Formats: sequence, C-alpha cells, structure tokens
Amino acid sequence: MSVLAAASPAGTGAGPLPGADDDGFFGIRFESIGGLGAHLAGKILAGAGVLRQGLNGAHFSSYGSEKKGTPVKSFVRFCPADRELRNSSPIESPQLVAVFHEALARSIDVAAGLTANGTLIVNTRSSPAEIRETLGLRSGTVAVLDALSIAVEEKTRVNTAMLGAVARLIPFIDPDEVKETLRERLGAHYAHLVEANLRTFDRGYSEVRLQTWDPEPGDPGRPVQRAAPAFGYLDAPIGGTILDAGNSVVKNLSTSRQGFLPDYDADSCVHCGICDIVCPDLCFVWSDDGEDEIAIRLLGIDYNYCKGCLKCIDACPTGSLTELREEAGWADENRVPLFPWLEREREDA
Ligand code: SF4
Ligand code: SF4
Repeated sequence: MSVLAAASPAGTGAGPLPGADDDGFFGIRFESIGGLGAHLAGKILAGAGVLRQGLNGAHFSSYGSEKKGTPVKSFVRFCPADRELRNSSPIESPQLVAVFHEALARSIDVAAGLTANGTLIVNTRSSPAEIRETLGLRSGTVAVLDALSIAVEEKTRVNTAMLGAVARLIPFIDPDEVKETLRERLGAHYAHLVEANLRTFDRGYSEVRLQTWDPEPGDPGRPVQRAAPAFGYLDAPIGGTILDAGNSVVKNLSTSRQGFLPDYDADSCVHCGICDIVCPDLCFVWSDDGEDEIAIRLLGIDYNYCKGCLKCIDACPTGSLTELREEAGWADENRVPLFPWLEREREDA
C-alpha cells in the first residue's frame, strides 16, 4: 500500500472539483488483476494530480497475495488543495471505475457503488450499450476501449492505454501532466519503454468510445458492496474447523488470461499428449471410449482452468494448437468440461 498526500503549491488546485461528491471528493477505482499494472497506473494518476496539478489526493491498492492473476483494486481519491484528506479507506462509491479485465465482471460486481451519473470504463471490444446491458447499469457514462489490442500492437501493457482513457474522462485531470509523470516514472528504470507507453497512452485517450444515459430522478446509483467476514462469533464453527475448504476444481481461471488462449484443431491432432505434459493446470480433456484404433483421444480444453500461458502451443508438434485472441463468451462456448458431474450439480442447484 502506498499513500500520496501533498500540500498544494500556492495558488493551484483550489476550488471544487467537477463531478466530486457532496464532501468534495472525487473517487476512482481500478478493478484489475495482478500483472496488468493497475497499481502503477493509480500511482501515476495520483502523482500527476497531486505533485503536478496541486490537488490533494491519496492512492492505495489492495492486492491480497500479490499473485499474478488474482484480483487487484487500486484507488485514487482527489480533492481540492484547500480540503483536508485524511481518509485511505477503500472507495465504495466512486465517481469513476476502470475495469482492466472484462472477465472480472463474471465473479465480482465491478460497478458496485458507482454513482448514478458516474463513469465506467471497460477494456473490451464490446460497445457501450452491450456493456451497459451485460452489467445491468441503468445510468451514467459507459466507455469502452480495446486496450488489449493497443497494448499488443505497441508491445506494452493495458495499464497505460486505460490511463489515457481515464485521463480523458476525468474533467479536471490534465493529460499532459499525466504523460509527464508517466515519462518520469518509467524513464527512471525503463527508459526504452517510455515512447511506446506514451503512444499507448495517446491511443487510449483518443480511441475510447462512450455513451451516456441520464439518471432517473432520485436514482441512488449502483448499490455498494462491502466485504464481510464469512463467520461471526455467533456462527463460527467450533474449533475453527474449515467446513468449506478452497477447491481448485470449482475455481475459474478466466481472469488469469491476458487476452489469448489456445484454440484446438482436432483434425490435425495426433493425440500424442505432449500438450498435457507441459500444461501446468491439467486443462486437457481426454476420452478412452474405444471408438476407434486410438486408445486415448484428446477431446478439447476446459478453459475454466486455462490461465493462458500458451506453453501448450509451443509444445504441440503438429500445429493443432494455435494462439487465439479471446472474444467475450468464446471460452464458454468452446470448452470441454473436465468434470461433467460438476456441471450437472451446478445446473441442478
Ligand atoms: S500436443 Fe498437439 S498433436 Fe499432441 S495431443 Fe496435444 S494438440 Fe494433439
Ligand atoms: S495455455 Fe497454458 S494453461 Fe492453457 S491449456 Fe495451454 S498450457 Fe494449459
């Protein structure tokens, strides 16, 4: 966790912030996964606002075990220079949410607490209207950016593309100051990455598409979600017994993928099993139904467990596995369930 709080240079950063809440704060929440650089993006945004524009602000992140692929939240809170900021609690009712990985919406309410006229930015190829419908949003601004394609083309990460979109949609943030902060931060250790990241930022800024829906009178916005302990003193199991242990069988690793997955072509496969040997997550599904002369046949991949490392593609001797840019819903439509009984249990539940 890191916190930035600075006195404003005299004569700058004073006065109410456009779009701020009744207390004068403008809250930004980045919903991401480890490895996409949301923490660094938050740090750069806060640095630009506080150290260059003279605002007061705080930045901090919540990233659990710091494991690549696990959920990360990064928060930036701004207020005018003449307003004290003594709060580093998670931002529950943000004015802007940026979602760095679309698949996060499957497991958490990424828009939780978003104000009725707030802004949601999603890294996706879908349209604002499709995202609005998928997430069940009623009002506010929905912005979309194909940050992954930009990052792939520029050989960077999605964080600076998302930062460009964020800088465009926060009315009081000066994009030039964010770019200068980006140049400083990266230039100190990764000078060779600066220009590509500045291009990525510019593309995020210019390529973001948005649509706005006016709130109904009295619309309170999206309900806040607050993490609560699973047990309290009245219902904790005696002896601290873990009744429902973590189980990798029910774990969906979709959010660990960073835009690519292996596509399987059964026609060219010789069922040698090399892909299965190199796969760290045992995603390959086999059949020994004895239908023909092949003793064991590769049926496909259970993408629920595929983290997109693409080792299997490198290992396949016949080119039956190829790299595919992941589109929303493709993995669900094309996965072969490794545990069919689990699917049945879910359907029955
Ligand atoms: S490594 Fe390639 S050819 Fe061998 S089983 Fe896997 S997909 Fe088929
Ligand atoms: S991409 Fe990695 S995790 Fe996914 S099936 Fe291939 S080897 Fe397994």
